[in-house]
Amino acid sequence: MTDPEPETGATDPRTAWDTPERCPFCETSLANGGSAFIRHVEDRETCRVAFESWRGRVASDIGGEWIG
Ligand SMILES: [Zn+2]
Repeated sequence: MTDPEPETGATDPRTAWDTPERCPFCETSLANGGSAFIRHVEDRETCRVAFESWRGRVASDIGGEWIG
C-alpha cells in the first residue's frame, strides 16, 4: 500500500496562503484561486492529499464543514 506524503510538512498553508493565484502546497501559479485551483488539486495527487488534509484541519478548527 502506497501512502504519498504531502511535501509541505513544515509549512502551514493557513499562514502561507496569502496568494490565491498560487497553490500553497507546490507554489504553482494558477489562473485563479477558485476553479483553477480545484482543477489543479484534482490533477495533482500530492496537492489533493495536502488540500484535503488542510481542509479537514480547518473544518475541525471552526467546528463545521468548509463549503467553498
Ligand atoms: Zn499544487
